[in-house]
Amino acid sequence: MEKLAINGGYPVRAGVIKYGRQWIDEKDIEAVDEVLRSDFITCGPKVDEMERSLAEYTGAKYAVAVSNGTAALHCACIAAGIGPGDEVIVSPITFAASANCILYCGAKPVFADINIETYNIDPKCIRKKITDKTKAVIAVDFTGQAVEIDEIRKICKEHNLLFIEDAAHSIGTKYNGKQVGSLADMTCFSFHPVKTITGGEGGAITTNDEGLYRKLVLAHTHGITRLPEEMVHESEGSWYYEEISMGYNYRLTDFQAALITSQMTKLEKFAKRRKEIVKRYNKEFKDIPEIIIQKEIPESDSCRHLYIIRLDLNKLKCTRKEFFQALWKENIGCQVHYIPVYWFPYYEKLGYTRGLCPNAEELYKGIISIPLYPRLTDEDVSDVIHAVKKLIDNYRK
Ligand SMILES: *Cc1c(COP(=O)(O)O)cnc(C)c1O
Repeated sequence: MEKLAINGGYPVRAGVIKYGRQWIDEKDIEAVDEVLRSDFITCGPKVDEMERSLAEYTGAKYAVAVSNGTAALHCACIAAGIGPGDEVIVSPITFAASANCILYCGAKPVFADINIETYNIDPKCIRKKITDKTKAVIAVDFTGQAVEIDEIRKICKEHNLLFIEDAAHSIGTKYNGKQVGSLADMTCFSFHPVKTITGGEGGAITTNDEGLYRKLVLAHTHGITRLPEEMVHESEGSWYYEEISMGYNYRLTDFQAALITSQMTKLEKFAKRRKEIVKRYNKEFKDIPEIIIQKEIPESDSCRHLYIIRLDLNKLKCTRKEFFQALWKENIGCQVHYIPVYWFPYYEKLGYTRGLCPNAEELYKGIISIPLYPRLTDEDVSDVIHAVKKLIDNYRK
């Protein structure tokens, strides 16, 4: 049998501009190389260093490095005390992991609709979904734009809910001048290669709350503690440790941590280039009536992970699928972010039905993510713009 593909089909055809790509330089390679030659390739000083850098950058008191963004979300749910019988409110326009982490804990994901202009979870829809069972809100900074943090914080405070921010797309984004990472109760990051900075895989959670921090540390390493003050029984000696809660092995290696720390030194440069490209796309597309561009709230100074064109299909004589395929024929690698999570067969089996979040479903019909990453040259960006405009002209009614 052929190996089952889990990667969305690589290699990409030569000459195609992909929708996202990492930027690894010689300094990054040296940083990894140094760790591989050292004593610690896991549980060593590079993980501590990365956690310190991320806490410093985001302005959060604490950071916990974990093996990927999904593990970060799972640990956040564990630290939030989410379990069977609980409900957690989440956006449907996201990667499956934002909702799966709720299921991991035996709780129920409750999907709240998005704002059709910003594509982020709509605080008004969050309010409507709150019940006695609601424990937390997982709000996703979709495409890198910060959610309406002040409003969501207010709702969470009123109803005694924990606010977990899925910032897999939004490292480098500021909300009212403050870095994403210190504004929610817990903020989860991913360092997958399509994200703004990468460790190959990798993730982290930041928080300002010491109690949550202690729980996050336990969750990512088997619930095991070596701290006498956390132990139930008297220490039996220097070998002694205790498992005091359920936890997992979600540790990050030191060579991945070193890569992430090295990438963080380039975050400002990456963010600047991403912003330039977004500005250029916006300028080129804003006067095309067949294309709707994402609205940004003034509070968010976004380091964008994705650029989405939303087709007004009433004005075009093609389907989204035809436009998507035609873009690939023009050598523009594109994607669709995202299929509403509750449309997946696994969620259908759990009882979720179509029609639950009309705005999310309406958005999904017309969206295509076009290439956005710092290494795109001005010429690449021109090629993308040219191809999009050419297809709009071809398909205009
Ligand atoms: C990538 C992503 C995740 C999961 O991160 P991994 O590091 O791939 O596990 C979670 N949420 C969103 C919105 C993502 O884009």
